[in-house]
This record gives sequence, structure tokens and C-alpha cells, in this order.
Amino acid sequence: MQSILVTGGAGYIGSHAVKALADAGYKVTVVDNLSKGHAAAVDKRASFLQMDLKDAQALKDLFVHEHFDGVLHFAGAIEVGLSMKEPAMFFESNVVNGVNLLEAMRAGNTKNIIFSSTAAVYGEPVSIPIKETDPLKPTNFYGLSKLMFEQLLEKYRELYGINYVALRYFNASGADPSGEIGQDYIPDTHLVPRLVKAVLGIYDKLSVFGTDYPTKDGTCVRDYIHVTDLVDAHLLALNFLFEKGQSEVFNLGNGNGFSVWEVIQTAEKVIEKKIPYEITLRRAGDPAVLVADSQKAKTLLGWTPKHSGLEEIIGTAWKWHSTHLQGYGD
Ligand code: UDP
Repeated sequence: MQSILVTGGAGYIGSHAVKALADAGYKVTVVDNLSKGHAAAVDKRASFLQMDLKDAQALKDLFVHEHFDGVLHFAGAIEVGLSMKEPAMFFESNVVNGVNLLEAMRAGNTKNIIFSSTAAVYGEPVSIPIKETDPLKPTNFYGLSKLMFEQLLEKYRELYGINYVALRYFNASGADPSGEIGQDYIPDTHLVPRLVKAVLGIYDKLSVFGTDYPTKDGTCVRDYIHVTDLVDAHLLALNFLFEKGQSEVFNLGNGNGFSVWEVIQTAEKVIEKKIPYEITLRRAGDPAVLVADSQKAKTLLGWTPKHSGLEEIIGTAWKWHSTHLQGYGD
């Protein structure tokens, strides 16, 4: 049985990955500092260690005493807006702590890592759909910190033979179809949870950030990808690393762009309730359109998104939030 270390395994995407890894028969150890994650989100089949990646020595000791065949690295800071106010925190969290992890991998002779990267590494796209070979010009410190860690991964591969797959997520959304785990991240900034919580009365109304974009209906267009599909790609990437030992970067999106209006309309159909909303000014830094070309992941990993229809994304998010009004309740 192969042994996998998951950083940030108590967070949104991490917790879904831990469940899938356990289902697939891996021995899973989760490291999370619980600053944003929830102990209750961690599948009972995994071992859980509350630890901060800034504790380089503890991390090294862990890798030396336990052998891990691979690492899934989800832990990190994710709020774009905050990154423009506190860049140092993003470099500590996403770059320095990441280097601590790579050093621990060197010490423990662990050779495989899958990294949660982001579409934000591209910045304002030069063409749509976005390909992995497109220019990398992040417009915020979040995207820059993720790109810097991708570059560090490439250097560690070259110098120390650590193989990696960096997965550039587009708009992760939805929840596990079981309804048992989902997104519980405060502050809530993403469209799908904000919208669902507006229906539930947790927020007064949804703000639609701008209706004057050069898109089909004036609202921003995004590529929404179900968390379960993202997790599938991680398991495929792990096999890819074990079998091929080849380091690659992949976009993960479903390739279809939906506007904010389309998301609202679909949600009204799925939830069978009106979404209370107001139109506000644009949010700073939002590109008009972000849609992935994920052909590379389809070809090299054999990945196919299966749950990324907008109805299923919103339906599973609704199932989770409407039965967990307090999230995990911690
Ligand atoms: N959005 C919105 N209201 C919200 C949150 C988001 O209109 O309360 C819009 C946002 O401008 C963007 C899209 O919904 O066009 C998706 O935003 P989100 O924050 O979910 O993800 P991002 O694309 O920023 O990673």
C-alpha cells in the first residue's frame, strides 16, 4: 500500500482528495494547521497531524521517520484580495512553507509531489481557451506566489530528482455528492457558495460584480469545475508520476465558460428559488473571461470531467450548504 502525505487535507479540495485516496486504498496522512481547515472534514481512515508547514524541523522529522511515496500539497493562502494587502504572508505561506516541504521530501527521499496551482498564474489571458504554454504574467501576489513555487518545483526536479505535477485549477466548486463534506471557508468570497448562502438567508443578497464586461451578457465568464473532477485528476496525476516519473503542468477546467447571469439562472432552476441579488461595481482585478484548454490533461492523464455540468455543481453545493448551515460547526 503506497503512503501519501496530504498537506491542507482538512481544507475544501484537500478533504475531498483525502476521501478519494482512502477509497482508492492509499495509506493517507494529513498535515494541516487548522487555520482555515476543519478536523471534522478529514476522513476517519486518514491519520491526522495538526502541524504548521513553517515548522521545518518537525516536517523533516516526519518525513524521515515515516516514509511517504508521494505528497499532495494543498496547503496555502488563497484569497486574491488579501494577497494585495499582505503579500509577505502569501510568500511565507505559498513559497517559504513550500520550500520547507521540498526540503523535508529531500531528507525523507520522497520523489513525487502534486501541487495545487491556479489559473491566476496566467493573469489577464492573451487568448481563450487558455493553454499551459500561454504567457505567465500573474496580476496579483497570489498568482505570483503560486508561479514562484512552480518554478521552485522545476529547480528541485532538475537538481534533486523530485518529480512533480502542477495542476492549475480554474473555478473549483461543488461538493462531494454524499453531502458529507463540502466547502466551509471563511471569508466566503466565491460565487457559488455566496449565491447558495444568499438563498439560505445567511447573506442578504448576492452582489453581481459588474455587468459591463465585454462578454455575451456583460457579466464575467468563468470555467467552473467540480471538486470531484479535480480530485480525479490528482489520482490520475499520482499514477502518472509513479509510472512515468515525468514532471508536467496541467490546466484543469471543463472548457465551458458560464457567465454570472447563467450561473444565477441555472441556480434558480436547480434550487427552485429566486436568488436575491444586486448589481454592484466591478471587483478589482477580475478578468472578463477565464476558460481552460484542458486537452493536455485529457491526453496525458486520461482525465475526463464527469460532474462539471453547472446543474450538478450547484446541486451538490446546495445539498452541502443547506444541510450544514454552520459548515462543520467548529
Ligand atoms: N462574483 C460575483 N459575486 C460574488 C462572487 C463572485 O459576481 O459574490 C463573480 C466574480 O466577479 C467572477 C465570478 O463571479 O466573475 C467568479 O468569482 P469567484 O470569486 O467565485 O472566482 P474567481 O474567478 O475570482 O477565482
